[in-house]
Amino acid sequence: MAVIRDKATDQMKLWKADRSAKAPDTLTTGAGVPIGDKLNEQTAGPRGPLLVQDVVFTDEMAHFDRERIPERVVHAKGAGAFGYFEVTHDISRYCKAKVFERVGKSTPIAIRFSTVAGEAGSADTVRDPRGFAVKFYTEDGNWDLTGNNTPIFFIRDALLFPSFIHSQKRNPQTHMKDPDMVWDFWSLRPESLHQVSFLFSDRGLPDGFRYMNGYGSHTFKLINDKGQPVYCKFHFKTDQGIKNLPVDEADRLAASNPDYAIGDLFNAIAEGDFPSWSFFIQVMTFEQAEKFQFNPFDLTKIWSHKDFPLIPVGKLVLNRNPVNYFAEVEQMAFDPSNMPPGIEPSPDKMLQGRLFSYPDTHRHRLGANYLQIPVNCPYKARVANYQRDGPMCMSNNQGGAPNYYPNSFSAPDCQPRYCESKFKVSPDVGRYNSADEDNVTQVRDFFTKVLNEQERQRLCQNMAGALKGAQLFIQERMVQNLMGVHQDYGKQVQSLLNKYNAEAQKNAPVRVYSRGASKM
Ligand code: NDP
Repeated sequence: MAVIRDKATDQMKLWKADRSAKAPDTLTTGAGVPIGDKLNEQTAGPRGPLLVQDVVFTDEMAHFDRERIPERVVHAKGAGAFGYFEVTHDISRYCKAKVFERVGKSTPIAIRFSTVAGEAGSADTVRDPRGFAVKFYTEDGNWDLTGNNTPIFFIRDALLFPSFIHSQKRNPQTHMKDPDMVWDFWSLRPESLHQVSFLFSDRGLPDGFRYMNGYGSHTFKLINDKGQPVYCKFHFKTDQGIKNLPVDEADRLAASNPDYAIGDLFNAIAEGDFPSWSFFIQVMTFEQAEKFQFNPFDLTKIWSHKDFPLIPVGKLVLNRNPVNYFAEVEQMAFDPSNMPPGIEPSPDKMLQGRLFSYPDTHRHRLGANYLQIPVNCPYKARVANYQRDGPMCMSNNQGGAPNYYPNSFSAPDCQPRYCESKFKVSPDVGRYNSADEDNVTQVRDFFTKVLNEQERQRLCQNMAGALKGAQLFIQERMVQNLMGVHQDYGKQVQSLLNKYNAEAQKNAPVRVYSRGASKM
């Protein structure tokens, strides 16, 4: 009986079938010099030693030694795909960006989905937020909507981001994931309660990348052609429907098929089962923002759908797999500061921090000319500026055009109509403590109104199952925070912890210390 293999498993076979009519290419060095033998080193006699003149060997090995670029500090494991965004509803009254120009307009896009805390080889089915980053190649340059599968985040001040990520990654001595670090940070920063509650709910284990929503998460600004601004949030709702993995199935897949989500996306697209998402915005006027009960720029909070209904805009469709993973996915670089005219940042402190951090990290990872890499290149626009040189300049470096500005030689010039919108900023400069800006009201709504009884129970089980790994004083502080959200939340998690802690006590191994060993 023939073994049924999917398209991802059969990639090599399919590649060969695609080019079966052609003879193999002549093997060459990186410089294109034909190679006669690439199975045997050039040696003095059959037993060696190797000659330095064996450039077939040195060319191969030296390139191999340099194959890895720095791994992304976060979102290291991911899958990419390509497709288009099509406008289905007119929002030009809010936004002049070309991507929303008219109903029926189609813009090519690239997407990258990812997990956050694991390394490039980590399992796809771990409990972790998922990155949901979309690059729109527009005629006014690239727009990168670099979001997640949640509309909120763990922190609201970007100064905490490096520490937050350190707490979720590896212990500096043991190099192991460390529940003390994870829960110490979360319990010390109760603004994380909303996102932590999402994370330990059923949606913390999406069934691959196709069955989850995506969110721009931050508040942005939209500007129309009269220069009038509104604040806005972006939502992608999956047309496949939400599907999550049960905990034991996610664990089983993490061990048996760690690339589950990458394979699922690749196979769906290869089979012509193109995944899609419906795209919506929420809009808030500046007047509404001033009167809003919360800080509308706080990334730990949502805007209620009842007060700010979802406005339909378009559809995102994925219809092409990457041809080469490294070239098109590993080198894909998203940058929230890539915003074409009509889309601007809000004062959201996390967004402001990311406007700096993302391009900074790409310059480190990929080099100063990373925007010349084909997948990142704004190919629908024409780049004309005064940036020159730098490592790996692969274009013509803008030829003989003047490399300074202003100049008298008809080189690229500014167009005032593309100026950013003006806005007022009057308060005193300071380091304002935002730790206590209502960390519970929306979490309480989530716990009591969004989740049903079974979902609440699973949330508490999932959370207690992870929190039990932390020291008692950290457990207690976390439960206190949950009590502040809702007594039932705190009590349920505490009673599960009591059970787990009693079991751990009972099953604790008896440690026998040899004479002279310290008893710590
Ligand atoms: P609504 O009842 O209008 O919306 C509830 C939202 O919750 C829906 O977007 C739904 O997504 C989402 N949801 C359902 N289950 C989960 C889950 N396990 N994890 C994460 N999201 C889930 O209420 P409001 O807009 O007034 O918001 C009430 C609460 O809902 C908020 O405090 C927040 O916790 C949560 N929420 C709100 C969102 C927003 O942007 N307003 C977005 C996501 C969550 P779907 O429609 O895809 O099923």
